[in-house]
Amino acid sequence: MDYTSAKQRIEQLKAVLWENSRKYYVDNAPTMSDFEYDQLMHELERLEAAFPEYATEDSPTRRVGSDLETPGMAPAEGGFAKYPHKYPMLSLGNTYSVQEVEEFVERASKSLESAFTYCCELKFDGTAICLTYRKGKLFRALTRGDGVVGDDVTENAWRIASIPHALKGSGYPEEFEIRGEVLMPYESFDRLNHERELAEEPLFANPRNAASGSLKLQDPEEVARRGLFCTLYHIPVGQVDYPTHDAALSAAASWGLPVSDKRQICHSIREIEDFIAYWDRSRKELPYATDGIVIKINELSCQDTLGYTAKSPRWAVAYKFKAEQACTPILSIDYQVGRTGAVTPVANMEPVLLSGTMVKRATLVNEDQIRSLDIHEGDWVYVEKGGEIIPKITGVDLSRRAPGAVVPVFPRVCPDCGTLLVKPEGEARWFCPNTTGCPTQIKGRLIHFLSRKAMNVLAGEATVEQLYNLNLVRTPADFFTLRESQLLVLEGWKEKSARRFLDSLRASRKVPFERVLFALGIRYVGETTARDIARHFGSMEAVASASREELLAVPEVGEVIADSVLAYFRSPATREELDRLSAAGLQFSLEQKAGPVSNALAGKSIVISGNFSVSREEMKALIEAYGGKNTSSVSAKTDYLLSGSKPGPEKMKKAEQLGITVLDEAAFRQLAGIPAEGPSASASLRDPVRENAPAEGPSAGMPENLEPTLF
Ligand code: NAD
Repeated sequence: MDYTSAKQRIEQLKAVLWENSRKYYVDNAPTMSDFEYDQLMHELERLEAAFPEYATEDSPTRRVGSDLETPGMAPAEGGFAKYPHKYPMLSLGNTYSVQEVEEFVERASKSLESAFTYCCELKFDGTAICLTYRKGKLFRALTRGDGVVGDDVTENAWRIASIPHALKGSGYPEEFEIRGEVLMPYESFDRLNHERELAEEPLFANPRNAASGSLKLQDPEEVARRGLFCTLYHIPVGQVDYPTHDAALSAAASWGLPVSDKRQICHSIREIEDFIAYWDRSRKELPYATDGIVIKINELSCQDTLGYTAKSPRWAVAYKFKAEQACTPILSIDYQVGRTGAVTPVANMEPVLLSGTMVKRATLVNEDQIRSLDIHEGDWVYVEKGGEIIPKITGVDLSRRAPGAVVPVFPRVCPDCGTLLVKPEGEARWFCPNTTGCPTQIKGRLIHFLSRKAMNVLAGEATVEQLYNLNLVRTPADFFTLRESQLLVLEGWKEKSARRFLDSLRASRKVPFERVLFALGIRYVGETTARDIARHFGSMEAVASASREELLAVPEVGEVIADSVLAYFRSPATREELDRLSAAGLQFSLEQKAGPVSNALAGKSIVISGNFSVSREEMKALIEAYGGKNTSSVSAKTDYLLSGSKPGPEKMKKAEQLGITVLDEAAFRQLAGIPAEGPSASASLRDPVRENAPAEGPSAGMPENLEPTLF
């Protein structure tokens, strides 16, 4: 390769790798497989070695991928505080070849004079965390960030059950750091993605992205609900006084820290290879994802001798497993209509175990994809779940095709309402154009509107189904006209569930404008785009009257999104709906604040802690809706500490020291004059019927004047 081509290719690779690094670490939505990413990184490494004059300091080969949204900047409002790591948090050199592991072993043997062993461990596929314990108590939890500075996620770490708040035993240093991985087990991952699928929210590509996205949530209660766990694997040298890495981990385990017992001391490449072969098979039985094996020199003095490159330790290497694949027959193909009317073909397959989960459905994306994969009915197909998970059909085993197998016929009419489908220019998907009459689309939009990321109203699919069937709701604005007496007609609903639902709707008036815009379900306007548009224009009116050019001026908004927004606001039905939603008191601008429902809590500063019958966000909204002010930390100016179950011990202690009144949820509701609480808000589908089924009966302090209308 000549110099000019090498320079060009290096620039190209750097740009592609940085862009994908952002998608992976910040957006948690990779579009490239890890294998492809690693191949490009290795190509860049080779080119930089051959043409060192083009190797720059900012190259992705020399820096760890950063999960910081705004590197080097003060946290955005609601963002995380950032703290420097005491020791840099680095990456690991990786390979997919056993031969390169052999080369690592050879290099180590040549460089080290004293005898040494290897500590082989699982490479946990989650997101890195660094915990600091001070005087035996969890003091701080940081993400890897850019390796030098990390996001402070201590509040969230408190909600991960496997992370001890206090150490047990003795002999731990006054203060030390320990590092590891936060993981999302397959079971939690499947549950989370199922919920997101129902709400038509983008699915997480794999448990790694889900763990990483969850650890960075702003709502610690939601973190608790996500079912994360932590496993620890590294105490930086100099923190504790042990001869080996393995001994340091055993000591950490004796202090109650969650250290993986699936590690083994190996003495030779043969033993390392056996360990790799064993876990390449057995990892399929683990309840969480692993993407390889980490081989570390065990003796800390030897680690010290070998040292570090700018990006990774020289004393460790990761051997990565290739993506798992299975072959299974297609039993049938469903054509599913989404809330935007898009029709997606989904293959139902003979269930097959892949990367720890039973896979029985995979998207076939669109008609073109069926054609390009040459899929016939009943074909045996290869299914993959690699780093980029969500089962993907990658090919067909032609040798097993049944004679006379036919190509599936993509429907030309909507499978739900029978309307002729259309394929807009430039779109690969077919759409049902009957947006106002197709039941699946209508219900899909209603479910989306109520969903957690949108208006966050306590209701699930089953509630929407009933409300739709009873002809009570057709558009989101209809929710705000519902009366308690109408809700009592729903199957399984009693006063308490109805009031809880109305309470939750009332609290949704405080949901910020950007989420209201997202809740409208405008095609192509996801959470991030809605936020960008809302911040750019500031109000619904301004968005509704924006021209194409003005919309295109919003960063990240391209022609497709701009046209979709224009089409949405041009419709007379939209206008009418927006007028009704505005009249219901929803936030239609960034600044506009709806007036309080009452002034019962006027002038009161209230700190909340623990779990309540509704989410913390809703609890904060309720405080404000009744005239109070929610503040984050307890001080002499605090009037009440509103304590749910499992309140933070620090806040409780401080409230006690300052003599601040602690209220439980019932007392708080009584004080504010809101209906008393129901059971926990964390039931899986958050449907008030399910959640309230066991408990019933009028609640203390509940005003009767909620009937007949909400607002
Ligand atoms: P990595 O995931 O390959 O390895 C380093 C990490 O492994 C550590 O930070 C730690 O979090 C983790 N780890 C798990 N078990 C461990 C153990 N027992 N001991 C030590 N560490 C352990 O490196 P990375 O820098 O986090 O990520 C780079 C990788 O991420 C790439 O190789 C690529 O596969 C993937 N990636 C993919 C994309 C994409 O678009 N698909 C983009 C960027 C990065």
